[in-house]
Amino acid sequence: MIRTGQGFDAHRFGPGDCVWLCGVRIAHDQGLIGHSDADAGLHALTDAILGALAAGDIGDHFPPSDPQWKGVASSEFLTHAAGLVAARGGRINNVDVTLICERPKIAPHRQAMRTRIAEILAISIDQISVKATTTEGMGFTGRGEGLAAQAIATVEVP
Ligand code: MG
Repeated sequence: MIRTGQGFDAHRFGPGDCVWLCGVRIAHDQGLIGHSDADAGLHALTDAILGALAAGDIGDHFPPSDPQWKGVASSEFLTHAAGLVAARGGRINNVDVTLICERPKIAPHRQAMRTRIAEILAISIDQISVKATTTEGMGFTGRGEGLAAQAIATVEVP
């Protein structure tokens, strides 16, 4: 059976000198606020994979109220979701992430992001798409209050 899932996430900018996006550390004049490392890209992708399995959402698996997830690398969340696919005897066909922000610029980091996601999911880089867009100055991403991410995942399960 081929199943798809989608995910969305947003995090607010705050004080800091870097952001984590799709598992890559990007030097920036702000950070992202969140309980974990606030990697909206990996959070959206984790939710997309959980969605494909109808396995709830990232908050069910990693409650923000639980102190053990404080400051954790979001790669752990994605690894967990990939493990659920494997536990069902399934495999991830492809994933597609869209990052929505004015800054930082994503293009210089896109290959590193694809490479990192490929490592975490243990699939080939050609099964992983990372895209970026702005909202032309409109809304919270346009005003630079935060950034957002969308993701879709296609999963094959027996
Ligand atoms: Mg999040």
